[in-house]
Amino acid sequence: MTAYLRPHTLEEALAARAQNPAFTVLAGGTDLMVNAPHKPEPVGLLDVFGLPGLCGIESNANELRLGAATPYRAILEDARVRSELPCLWEACREVGAVQIQARGTLGGNLVTSSPVGDTLPALLALEAVIELASVRGVRKVPYAQFCTGYRKTVLAADELVVAVLLPHPVPGTRQLWRKVGTRRAQAIAKVALAAVARVEDGLVVAPRIALGAVAATPIRAHAAEVLLAGVRPDAACAGRVAGALLAEIHPITDVRSTEAYRREVAARLVARFVLSLGQEKP
Ligand SMILES: Cc1cc2nc3c(=O)[nH]c(=O)nc-3n(C[C@H](O)[C@H](O)[C@H](O)COP(=O)(O)OP(=O)(O)OC[C@H]3O[C@@H](n4cnc5c(N)ncnc54)[C@H](O)[C@@H]3O)c2cc1C
Repeated sequence: MTAYLRPHTLEEALAARAQNPAFTVLAGGTDLMVNAPHKPEPVGLLDVFGLPGLCGIESNANELRLGAATPYRAILEDARVRSELPCLWEACREVGAVQIQARGTLGGNLVTSSPVGDTLPALLALEAVIELASVRGVRKVPYAQFCTGYRKTVLAADELVVAVLLPHPVPGTRQLWRKVGTRRAQAIAKVALAAVARVEDGLVVAPRIALGAVAATPIRAHAAEVLLAGVRPDAACAGRVAGALLAEIHPITDVRSTEAYRREVAARLVARFVLSLGQEKP
């Protein structure tokens, strides 16, 4: 029979993780349960769902801190996330349906690390930092370095993801999140875009463009960002930036979509973001 541990504090959880590195960490279980029939029975389960040290949202002078086991529903109910980080809020709103949002967590999305994980492009564009902990101590890893390959992360066998740290955006920052799937609701992404930038004196400042489902990991579109920075976001600019994006992405054809469709959609989403920057902020 599978062993089951349910710690009451973060300290207990880290001690249990150190003593049982072969155990599977269980948060909402929405990824684990789907995959369970296709995998060997776990040696043991370390249940962190609702663990006090891993749940909740706090704001300090520098950042919003989202506990890794905070379910999507709690994130969606937080007015600070909604107003400061609309691109993450929108991503959370489109994860599954209400049942999944009640159980699924940000930490689970991060560690599953699917290229189609909805929050991941938003975390890249918002320059999130991931807080990891073990009995050895705490370390903070920029999300850009957290995911190292297809469904691979830097998480060690004795570590837990504790929180996601999101810097407060500079006032006036525009944010966009879009998922294109088979249908409008409850779809797995064929392509997802998260993008942020400011417009000052008519010119684009600090653009960050991230995409999901166009590579083995979520990616930043650095060449497109370079072309966008410091210029007027008009139709000609949108065309140039979309062209740069097409040169730097190499999506695959799989059961969900084709390479050609993904390229076309990614270019259109990026062009739409550029054009939105040229419009008055609502
Ligand atoms: C019907 C359905 C629809 C879905 N729709 C979407 C969707 O639209 N978009 C989307 O992105 N995803 C979707 N998912 C996938 C899933 O809901 C999300 O990835 C969710 O965020 C997983 O979180 P969880 O807490 O349930 O993770 P779990 O299943 O509990 O865990 C997932 C992985 O993360 C590890 N883990 C979890 N928390 C921690 C932690 N704190 N520290 C270390 N390791 C940890 C676990 O060991 C496991 O490897 C869907 C799933 C289902 C079943």
